Amino acid sequence: MLRQLPELHEEAFSKIDCLSCARCCKNHSPRFKQPDIKRIAKVLRIKEGELVERYLKLDEDGDYVTQRGPCPFLAEDNTCNIYDDRPSDCARYPYTDEDVLLKRVQLTLKNATVCPATFYVLERLRMTTPNPA
Ligand code: SF4
Ligand code: SF4
Repeated sequence: MLRQLPELHEEAFSKIDCLSCARCCKNHSPRFKQPDIKRIAKVLRIKEGELVERYLKLDEDGDYVTQRGPCPFLAEDNTCNIYDDRPSDCARYPYTDEDVLLKRVQLTLKNATVCPATFYVLERLRMTTPNPA
């Protein structure tokens, strides 16, 4: 299955336009890890503490996430105001070309309820994988 992912990932994103969707940015928060906070604060020309105070909160896992959705960096046209410096979670989402897709099943199923590209890849995998029974 892992070997199919790059092709299915390409296929999904050739059909689905993220700029017409942005459901991830509206429904999930990425984790803002320390290097993300440092980078984003620098590009916004504010102090790291100010970035945290204005936009972020700690979640139950102790990760910084956005205080509320949609993400405060999402523009009206669904572009990202900090695209080049966005959190690494955003750059990797929805993991459809990574083994994370198969290893973290609960996360993948959760993502599939929000992200049409994830749903597409899962459906294609289901159709092409022989039934183990
Ligand atoms: S930082 Fe940008 S890519 Fe990430 S959730 Fe916010 S708007 Fe979306
Ligand atoms: S939810 Fe999926 S398809 Fe929609 S913008 Fe995010 S990554 Fe793209």
